[in-house]
Amino acid sequence: MSKQQFQTEVSQLLQLIVHSLYSHPEIFLRELISNSSDALDKLRHLTLTDDAYKALVGNGIEPPRIELELNEDARTITISDTGIGMNEEDLVSHLGTIARSGTRTFLSQLSGDQRKDSNLIGQFGVGFYSAFMVADKVEVISRKAGDDKAWKWISDGKTGFEIEPAERASAGTTVLLHLNEEGAQYANSYRLQEIVRKYSNHIAFPIFLTYDKSEGNAEKKESIKSRVTEQVNAASAMWQRSKSELTDEDYKELYKSLTGDWEDPLLWFHTRAEGTLEYTTLFYIPAKAPLDLYQTDYKTGVKLYVKRVFIMDDSRELLPQYLRFVRGIIDSEDLPLNVSREILQQNKVLASIKAASVKKILSELKSLSTSNPEKYAQFIAEYNRPLKEGLYGDFANRETLLELIRFKSTKVDGLTSLAEAKARMQPEQKSLYYITGGNEALLRNSPLLEIYKKKNIEVLILDDDIDEIVFSAIDKYGEIDLKAANKGAASEDLKSEAEPEKAESLKPLIEKLKATLGDAVKEIRISTRLADSPSVIVSDEDEPSARMRQMMQAMGQ
Ligand code: ADP
Ligand code: MG
Repeated sequence: MSKQQFQTEVSQLLQLIVHSLYSHPEIFLRELISNSSDALDKLRHLTLTDDAYKALVGNGIEPPRIELELNEDARTITISDTGIGMNEEDLVSHLGTIARSGTRTFLSQLSGDQRKDSNLIGQFGVGFYSAFMVADKVEVISRKAGDDKAWKWISDGKTGFEIEPAERASAGTTVLLHLNEEGAQYANSYRLQEIVRKYSNHIAFPIFLTYDKSEGNAEKKESIKSRVTEQVNAASAMWQRSKSELTDEDYKELYKSLTGDWEDPLLWFHTRAEGTLEYTTLFYIPAKAPLDLYQTDYKTGVKLYVKRVFIMDDSRELLPQYLRFVRGIIDSEDLPLNVSREILQQNKVLASIKAASVKKILSELKSLSTSNPEKYAQFIAEYNRPLKEGLYGDFANRETLLELIRFKSTKVDGLTSLAEAKARMQPEQKSLYYITGGNEALLRNSPLLEIYKKKNIEVLILDDDIDEIVFSAIDKYGEIDLKAANKGAASEDLKSEAEPEKAESLKPLIEKLKATLGDAVKEIRISTRLADSPSVIVSDEDEPSARMRQMMQAMGQ
């Protein structure tokens, strides 16, 4: 037997769990069942695609199922599966460390108040460690598919864990919880059934519960206890049913069991395609943007299935990066079961599913923007920025994305669309204008806007740090030119006539400025773009602006 310490981050996480997650301790069951489901998914995939594993079916690998066992007297619950299992090394690395750096960063950034917010933590999926909310001792007995040896991992969730050899008849994992005071309430079969139905009803594998059932006998006025095993969940691939059979509750439930989110999703789109390609997609948009949205190791949220068999859930090929906040399922009838990551990258079937999915998501959002502006505003509050990233990378959908994105403006409070700004254009206005390169207050007070104000022309305020890079690549909205107010060409539009005498009289001043500033400037021009300020610095149309030059310098360009 060897005693090992938890990685520091695990200890921190355990502290957090014990001290702040008590508002929803019942999620321990959802987390452990979802781990079992993942383990069953992984093994099923192998037995379908790998002959070595195929040969073990019935001989070390049992049919997929999840079994819960309740022992009220001993106050224990076990969660067992016939999945892929873990060997000694797996137990150490999977149940003793936190691999994802996103979780580590997240933990270190949490402030005191946030630590109490179970919602935040729930989003990151505390996973296995949530068992310690309800148990003061956890034993994990596991045997990896293909191995004959089994191992037992034991911990009190405080300092570390021990590992020793164990026995297990076939591949899979059993998690044995010794319930603590807080957990005692779950030593109750009704409660367990209720929680399973709430969070795990649509887990694709059957979940059985074994417990002591009291059956009343009215005549003898007594109740007899008998040990029974009953299936608790529906165990169907819900997304394969037709929309008309499904209720909003079904969709919300599946969303929660897929993502572990507490909140209802903002939106969902369920589509079945039949024709040259057959597939089903069910996409969800979370009400709140995922916390790792702007981290490079963000977790993807779309699972790929082939004919209802889970294939993978961490592929970045399923949707473009800017839609990384979308959660859900793609289930294809046409892909091979043994499709690998590498194949996915150049697979034509997946490429068409992906293209159609993006179109579908964007067009649904577009119709929402008119049918339910309030909900659309909620969407924009969370996801305007990732859509802008799409503008930069997704040429095929640029027009739609331009319609979807919302802007601050000199003419409206709140946000506006390009279509609305277009409708407000002045009769003599030639282009739509925007200004970038600073925070909102700075931009709104820029002397560059004076002439626009004077002429009653709207200017869009683009104050996101990616705006300048994104919009420098976009020069049209439909037929209309989009121009940056801080660049030369925009001022050409606003030039008024009858300036020659003025120009003549200013010549000596310009000469003097040129002599003084020398090479520090490229050119000094008489401008009509200012109304009140005496002078302003602008960039050439084909030259990066001052801010972009700074950004490029910072990037070593
Ligand atoms: P996550 O599920 O997000 O990876 P968890 O904390 O829930 O995080 O689980 C950590 C890891 O432990 C899993 O990724 C998996 O490798 C392993 N694991 C947990 N439970 C099981 C199980 N029942 N069967 C096989 N592996 C498991
Ligand atoms: Mg998990």
